[in-house]
Amino acid sequence: MARRKKIYEGKAKTLYEGPEPGTIVQYFKDDATAFNAEKKDVIEGKGVLNNILSEYFMQGLGQIGVPTHFLKRLNMREQLVRSCEIIPLEVIVRNYAAGSMSKRLGIDEGTQLPRPIVEYCYKDDSLGDPLVSEEHIAAFGWASQQDMDDILSLALRVNDFMSGVMFGVGIRLVDFKIEIGRVYDGDFQRLVVADEISPDSCRLWDIESGQKLDKDVFRRDLGSLTDAYSEVARRLGVMPNNPPAPSKPTLVN
Ligand code: C5P
Repeated sequence: MARRKKIYEGKAKTLYEGPEPGTIVQYFKDDATAFNAEKKDVIEGKGVLNNILSEYFMQGLGQIGVPTHFLKRLNMREQLVRSCEIIPLEVIVRNYAAGSMSKRLGIDEGTQLPRPIVEYCYKDDSLGDPLVSEEHIAAFGWASQQDMDDILSLALRVNDFMSGVMFGVGIRLVDFKIEIGRVYDGDFQRLVVADEISPDSCRLWDIESGQKLDKDVFRRDLGSLTDAYSEVARRLGVMPNNPPAPSKPTLVN
């Protein structure tokens, strides 16, 4: 069988040319990185969990009419997605203060924000993905005003959907990051939610106990990352049949 062509290798995923023009195979690796790859590890089973969780969220978004790049899951580690041109922005939506916002503004982690706050970071690892304003985005031509209106609307729709889904299983959506891609239909372009939505890119806290069920478990050495992600998958009813072996001790509900 011919070897497929690798298009791009990122920190957590590898992209290969898809079977049809305009498609890409997105492979979820077990690699975990934090602090702009200063902290690294391989966490067995993480890729499988993120593949399944991202499928679940992207499919759900599609069902309520939010366009995404997702086409179908191919196997435990791969999904087929539409090829798109990624806008070089990380779009972050925050419902509660945490992480870099808490640090930057001196707001205690867990403080509820008066309304969802949307932030933009310029996607550039060598610069550490700096926070940018809409002025920078417009002046440097990273996205047009129409794009920005569409991006804001997509980000808030994703936030409403994800907050509701997670609340339904006793989890608070503290914040998350999405990436947006352009797809071209003839002369027209539309924007779609791209990349992945998973506990790697969200902050998820148990509503009752406040326990962290996201990548902060890895960033802050709080225990087993696969246990945390498995707990999210279990609550959503999408735990894979051959789940990654739980480490001991397992999480207690
Ligand atoms: O680090 P910070 O507090 O700015 O992160 C906000 C949210 O965006 C978190 O859910 C984090 O996991 C996500 N994020 C991400 N990829 C990055 C930066 C942040 O998924 N490069």
